[in-house]
Order: sequence, then structure tokens, then C-alpha cells
Amino acid sequence: MRCLNCGTEMMNNQVSTKNDLISYDMCEKCGSLWLDAGELDKMAFQVEGSIEYCSQEPVEEPEKQIRKCPRCDNSNLYPVRFLNETDIILHHCRNCGGFWLDGGELDLVDKELAKIMPVKGKGFSDFVNNVHVPYWYKRVKRKSSEIETRVEVLPIKGAKLERTTTDQCPACGKPLDEYTVFSMRFEGCPACKGVWLFKDELRRLKNKVEHGSMRWLNDEINNIEKTSAVATKRICPKCKNVRMVSVLFGKSSIVIDWCPQCHGMWLDQDEFDSVTEYLKDELYGMHSKEMEKKALDEVKLLWSGGPESRYEELLDVKATISALINATIFEHPTFVKLCLGAPRL
Ligand SMILES: [Zn+2]
Ligand SMILES: [Zn+2]
Ligand SMILES: [Zn+2]
Ligand SMILES: [Zn+2]
Repeated sequence: MRCLNCGTEMMNNQVSTKNDLISYDMCEKCGSLWLDAGELDKMAFQVEGSIEYCSQEPVEEPEKQIRKCPRCDNSNLYPVRFLNETDIILHHCRNCGGFWLDGGELDLVDKELAKIMPVKGKGFSDFVNNVHVPYWYKRVKRKSSEIETRVEVLPIKGAKLERTTTDQCPACGKPLDEYTVFSMRFEGCPACKGVWLFKDELRRLKNKVEHGSMRWLNDEINNIEKTSAVATKRICPKCKNVRMVSVLFGKSSIVIDWCPQCHGMWLDQDEFDSVTEYLKDELYGMHSKEMEKKALDEVKLLWSGGPESRYEELLDVKATISALINATIFEHPTFVKLCLGAPRL
């Protein structure tokens, strides 16, 4: 593994104490750290629960260049806001869950934790900072390349490869593979990690994520066919000689390629994640009044017969109503305290 900042070969450190073990990679020249999933929890100051959650949407930060995950073949590191709300921006890989910390960022993380939470211990931070540590700590140090592990990247996280196909990737021309995820089939490109979805599959696929909470958010998807489109050179993998067009997803900057003939769509690498992140933001940003209207619309669809099956529509109603309840709770915390029998403020 080479340092993403200065290109120096990273060193792997395996540190064991009486009852714990960590393996982390560090650049000894600039102090940058690579921490695999679970290692930040061990490395930083110890608090109740995991600290490895961040706001996933890319933070507005002028990036010099996109950094690639040192573990995953062809996966980007995204700037993320540590613990969602702090001013600390770390780099996170959605595929393997690892974190890249520039030199000094671990100290910032520790300081922040000490400020906002009760700290139970110092984790392994002292090791990185070369603070004197007890004699029963053992460290084995070697070049990162000696124990390099790679993590495979799939077009959609958690997908399983089923078979190869003869369809051609519209983005890079390689043959597409068939995968399954959430017991749904889709085609994806093993080289550029793009995803091909038939008409209506984006809607069905997004219904499966986040416990179905976004299943009723269909406006953007339904509107794709009406959105103004730009011609592309990409050829539909199913219609063979039809050129796809590019449309923007909702109010986002996510560009989706769409076939005007079969209505299938192509999402480049990470775009499915971006779509679900966008919908999640929409869900959390919605005011309860707006949601009430949506819930009512869903109930009407249930009786008038919407585009989905009756059972699916019923699930949509259920998801809208639970979103409405959540929004109400969020906007009226005192009301909820009353309901739970807590003393009034
Ligand atoms: Zn470095
Ligand atoms: Zn990764
Ligand atoms: Zn491709
Ligand atoms: Zn087509």
C-alpha cells in the first residue's frame, strides 16, 4: 500500500495488548493512516458505541483529485463528515468500510470525542503518537505490501455474481455479468462497475434498501421519462442499435443514461448509492405537513389502483405513514415525551 498523499510505502503495524489486537497501516513520512472497517473504533478514544458512522453524502469540498481506496480495486474514497455533525472531514470507502485519515486527523477525532462524549480509554491512539505504552503491548511492524489484502468491488454492494452474458457494457464495452442482490437479478459491468436496470427495476431495487422506508418516493423515478434529455454515444445493451440519452435524477447532479426504446437505464459506478442517498435526504428533509399530503395521496392510490400491485401499494402506504410518524416525532419532541410518560420540560 502506498500513501495517497506522498506516495511513500506504508508500514503495517500489528499491535496486541492483553485483551485486544489491531492492525493498522501508517505512512511514516506524513503520518497518514489507513484503517480498515472496525479499526477506527479501536484506534480512537474509547466511547460507548461505534464512531464509524458518517454522513455519506459527499461533502462540498474542492477535491484536488479523487482518491482511490487502497484496499478495493477501483472504488473511490468519499469525503465524509465524522459522526455526521462535526467539522472533521475524513475519507471513507463505501465498499470496504475503511477510513483514510491524513496526518493529525486522528488527534482531531480524539479531541472531538473528548469534547462531546464520556471517554473510557485512549484506544490505540497512543501507539500512533508514540506515547510511552506499557511493556505488555506488543508491536510487529512490516511493510504494508507484505500482508496486502484486496477487497473485491461489485456493481452493487452485497451482490452475488451469477453468470456472464453477451450484452455489452454501454460505458466501457466489456461483456456484462448477471448478478443477484436482495433476490433481484440485474446486469452489471465487472470492469467499470456500472449497473443496467430494466424498466421499473430502479423503483423495485430502491424499495429493498433502508428497510423499505423509501419505497413510496417514486416521483423522481416516474419523472425520468419526462425529464429533458441529452443525447449520448452510449448504446443500449438490450436494443443493440439504440443510443441512450442522459437525464438528471430529480434535482440532483446524478446523471442517468436511459434508453428511449426499452426504458431500461444505466447507472455508472456508485450511482445507485447516490440515488438512495438522495432519496434518504429527501425523506429526512420533508416536513410533516408535506408528508401528510403524500400519505393521503398514497391512500388514494391504494383505492384507485396505482401503477404497482395492491400489495405493493399497501406497503407504500405503510412506509409513508411510518415516515410521517417519524417526522412528527422529530418536529414535536415534547408531544412524544408526553406520550412516553416523561416529565414535561
Ligand atoms: Zn505519506
Ligand atoms: Zn475500500
Ligand atoms: Zn463497463
Ligand atoms: Zn433499450
